[in-house]
Amino acid sequence: MNIKVMKFGGTSVGDADCIRRASRIVAEAARQDHIVVVVSAMSGVTNRLITAANESARGDLAEFRKLVEQLRAEHLTAASALVNDEKQLAALITELENVTNDVSNLCQGIALLRELTPRTLAAVSSIGERLSARLMAGALSGLGVPAAVVDATEVIITDDEYSQAEPLMDQVRRRSAEKLLPLVDQNRTPVVTGFIGATVEGTLTTLGRGGSDYSATTLGAALDADEILIWTDVDGVLTADPRLVPNARLLREISYNEAAELAYFGAKVLHPKTLRPVAEAEIPVWIRNSFAPERAGTKITKSGHPTSDGVRGITAISNVSLITVGGRGMVGVVGVAAKTFAAVASVRANVLLISQSSSENAICLIVDAVDAARTMKALRTAFASDLVHHDVEHITANPDIAIVAVVGEKMCGTPGIAGRTFSALGRKGINIIAIAQGSSEYNVSFVVEAKTMRDAVVAIHDEFKLHLPAVRSEQEIVAGFDPVHLAS
Ligand code: ADP
Ligand code: ASP
Ligand code: MG
Repeated sequence: MNIKVMKFGGTSVGDADCIRRASRIVAEAARQDHIVVVVSAMSGVTNRLITAANESARGDLAEFRKLVEQLRAEHLTAASALVNDEKQLAALITELENVTNDVSNLCQGIALLRELTPRTLAAVSSIGERLSARLMAGALSGLGVPAAVVDATEVIITDDEYSQAEPLMDQVRRRSAEKLLPLVDQNRTPVVTGFIGATVEGTLTTLGRGGSDYSATTLGAALDADEILIWTDVDGVLTADPRLVPNARLLREISYNEAAELAYFGAKVLHPKTLRPVAEAEIPVWIRNSFAPERAGTKITKSGHPTSDGVRGITAISNVSLITVGGRGMVGVVGVAAKTFAAVASVRANVLLISQSSSENAICLIVDAVDAARTMKALRTAFASDLVHHDVEHITANPDIAIVAVVGEKMCGTPGIAGRTFSALGRKGINIIAIAQGSSEYNVSFVVEAKTMRDAVVAIHDEFKLHLPAVRSEQEIVAGFDPVHLAS
C-alpha cells in the first residue's frame, strides 16, 4: 500500500462538523492507502493563544483565564459531538483537560515572571494543535479507523530557532521510521500535530505561522510518501488571492517553483517553505477543498503544465517595510552594500526584495514588518560614523507599502511581460516605488503604496486575462487536455 500524507488546515478542522467531514475524507482514503494525518489548530486558536501569552506577560491574568475557559468549552463541545462511545469520550475529555491545564500553568508562569521568551511562546502556541489532533483521532476511531495521536515533538526534530525552526531531515527520517512506520504497519492512522517540532534536547519549537503545511511535506519527504494532500478552504491554488480578485481562476497544475514563488510573496494558501522538502524527490502535492472534496484541486509537480505565455499568478504582500539607506556621499564608496547586508544579517531579518539605483545613491530593501525596528537599529549602529560624516544621509523605513509579484515558470523567456505589467499600472495611475528585476527567474516583483495594492493586483490580473482559461500549451494539446473545463 502507498503512503499518503493528508494535512487539514484550521478552517478544515474549525468545529465538530468540519472535523467530521475531514475524518470522513481520511476514512475513505484509508480504504486504499496508508494515511498519515497532520492537523492544524482549529481556526483562530493560535492567534488567541498568542494574545493570551502576551496579556499574561503584561500581568493580565483575566484575559488568559477567559481564553482557557473558552478553549476548554469549545473543544469539549466538539468532543461530545464527535465521539459516541462513553468510555472513549471520557478518556478524550481527560486528555483535553490535561492539555488546557498545561496552557494555564504556562500562562501563570509567564504572568509571575512578567516575561515571555520565544521558547515559552512556542510552548503556548502549540496548544491548539495538541487539542485538535486529539479530536481528529477521536473522530477517526468513531468511524472505525484505528488512530493514534503522535506529538510532532517526537518526530519533527529541528534547530533551536523557537519560532521559525528548521527541521533536521536526517533526524526526522530516523524518527519517522521509528515512530510512524510501526503504526502504519499495524494499520493504525497516525494523527500528527502540525506546526510544532522539538530540538534534539526535546524543547518544543514551532515552524512559523501557517507552518502545518511545512510539517506535512517534511513528514511526506521523510516517509517517501507517494503524495501529499493539503486540505484547505479554497479549491486549490488560484491565479490570485480570491479575497483580492473575485474572478481568480483555479490552476489545475503548477510547478514547484511557481507555487513556491507565489507562497513566498504572500499567497497564504501555502507556507513559503512547504515545497522545499518534496521538490527534489518530486513528490506531488495536491491542494484541495475539504468543503468540496469531489473537486479535483491543484496538483503541484516538477513541470507544472507550463502555458505558452508564462504568467500564472499574481500575488501581493503588505505587512512589510521598505528600508532605504541613502545619501549622495555613497556614490562610488566601496562596501556600502556589504555593510548594509551584514547589518541586516546580524539581526536575522528576512529580506524579501532588494533594489539599488544605478546612480548608487540609495539601497532599498524590504523586510517583514516584524523585523523592521531591529533592522533599522542595526543599520543605524553600523552606519553611525557615516551618518555623522554625511556619507550616508538617511536611513528610513516606510511601512505603507506592498510588494506585488507576477509569477510564472516560463516568464523570463517571454518578452514584454514587464512592459505590459507596468503599462497596465500606468493606465490606472498606480505609482511604482521600486522594481526588483531578476530576484528570481520566476517572477517580476515591484513595490507600490499599500493603498493601491488591490487595484494593482486586479489591473495585472485583467491585463493577462488570467480569469480566462490559459492558452493551450503544446504539451496540453498532445495530452488532449481541454482548457474549457479549467474555468472554475
Ligand atoms: P489553512 O487554514 O487551510 O492552512 P489558509 O487560510 O492558511 O488555510 O490558506 C487558505 C487561504 O489562502 C484561502 O482562503 C485564500 O483566501 C488565501 N489565498 C491567498 N492567495 C491565494 C491563492 N493564490 N490561491 C488560493 N488561495 C489563496
Ligand atoms: N496553527 C498554526 C497557525 O495558525 C499553524 C497552521 O495553521 O498551519 O499559524
Ligand atoms: Mg495555512
